[in-house]
Amino acid sequence: MFPPDRIAVHAADTAAAGDAPAPGLIADLVAANHILFDQGVVDAFGHISARHDKRPDRFLLARNMAPGNVTAADIVEFDLDGNPVNADGRKVYLERFIHGEIFRARPDVMAMVHSHSHNIVPLSVVKDVPLRAIFHMAGFIGEAAPVFEIREAGGDGTDLLISDNALGRALAEKFADADIALMRGHGSTVVANSVPLAVYRAVYAELNARYQLQASGLGEITYLTAAEGRACVGRVEGQVQRPWDLWKAEAEKRRAA
Ligand SMILES: [Zn+2]
Repeated sequence: MFPPDRIAVHAADTAAAGDAPAPGLIADLVAANHILFDQGVVDAFGHISARHDKRPDRFLLARNMAPGNVTAADIVEFDLDGNPVNADGRKVYLERFIHGEIFRARPDVMAMVHSHSHNIVPLSVVKDVPLRAIFHMAGFIGEAAPVFEIREAGGDGTDLLISDNALGRALAEKFADADIALMRGHGSTVVANSVPLAVYRAVYAELNARYQLQASGLGEITYLTAAEGRACVGRVEGQVQRPWDLWKAEAEKRRAA
């Protein structure tokens, strides 16, 4: 297994790359990196992965770099233990174990976004005030997003990063009944059944957090009920192609200039 070290990250590839992933999937993953930067969900940190379309036991993730600059040549294939299979010595993300362990635990998940987006972090540290769905675009959040407390899995003194498989497995447990989990003092991870929907959910989770912080200073909040949240997932998320097409076109335009 690739050692879960925190400093040296020149990967020794451990297995051959499988069938090549669909070019369209790689293109979507590259666009997703750009969109998440453009939308303020990620900055120099944060990442998005996609499950390999021909090898469900593999996933695709950029090499260790700022998402806004990712190209198709920067996408690396990993096994579910977080071992890169074609990194060729390129540095890989310290927190790749998030992706492998959640893909392992949730066969229905095809993509996920891990970020430290600005308005989510405050809600990850306040006890008894969960992130909750406050508007129709974020019904998937439900009535209380779970919070991952790394001290329960890693004790006191961790750097709060998901830097090995054991921590990844502990985080993945939060996704048994949820599609988003906050990570105390760190950020969040959001899962979905496609790259566009993972991007959509990451964008609207951040917006939901901002609205929740704003509204909480004004008075008592009327949140979505569980039934409203479910109804919004069914109806509103069916519109995902519209924002995806817009964001992708804007991202391409910006980078063609
Ligand atoms: Zn992180």
